[in-house]
Amino acid sequence: GAPAIKYKRIVLKLSGEVLRSKSSGDPIDRLTLERVCTQVKEIHELGIQIGVVIGGGNIFRGLAGEKRGVERTTGDYMGMLATVINSLALMDSLEKMGVVTRVQSAIPMNQIAEPFILRRAIRHLEKGRVVIFAAGTGNPYFSTDTTAALRASEMHADIIMKATKVDGIYDKDPKKYPDAVKYEEITFIDALRQRLNVMDSTAFSLCLDNNVPILVFDLNDEHAISRAVHGEKVGTLVHG
Ligand code: UDP
Repeated sequence: GAPAIKYKRIVLKLSGEVLRSKSSGDPIDRLTLERVCTQVKEIHELGIQIGVVIGGGNIFRGLAGEKRGVERTTGDYMGMLATVINSLALMDSLEKMGVVTRVQSAIPMNQIAEPFILRRAIRHLEKGRVVIFAAGTGNPYFSTDTTAALRASEMHADIIMKATKVDGIYDKDPKKYPDAVKYEEITFIDALRQRLNVMDSTAFSLCLDNNVPILVFDLNDEHAISRAVHGEKVGTLVHG
């Protein structure tokens, strides 16, 4: 028979950069967007409840703003607004594929998105809608990784699936060291001991404290998300 589905409810964390065009460098590329959304649609069709958190790094990051003389807090709000832009792009693309979505913003902007309301978000998931969490946590000095950790904790998600440019966690930087070894899985404690950069420390602590496993994988691998939810060994699993 068909292989069992491993997860009932997931939070998918996408960095903003996944939307960027590799050829033109455009921050949001239509074909790239479609490729990402096709992967979401694939697992949505399996009946998995999906919350999506997308970053804003393809448009603006608070720390980058600071380097250009923008006050950190202001820059962080600019970054949060960037996540709203990306969230709308995801919404648009998913809806065109027939996937019903709701965008919930941590900062109220009623014409653009619903406000974030936990119980309503869960209701959407139960009805089969993909919920896209925009505007991060709504607070400066946080990241969208922390947002994913927070939403996953409060929704009791089974896992955070974090899409990155590398296909997992290595004992050292695989770009610098050809003999770098990839972990198939690692515990939170070992990841801490070996100072592996899974997520920023705030996000990591939340996952550790609330026992939310994290799968780090490369979204460019074909059907990566679908393979992972079918229990195939994809990327690196960080767990309790
Ligand atoms: N941000 C924030 N609070 C949050 C989430 C995000 O201030 O709760 C800001 C922060 O400036 C961050 C930017 O939004 O740099 C974009 O998010 P992130 O860097 O996590 O995006 P990614 O790297 O995943 O694209």
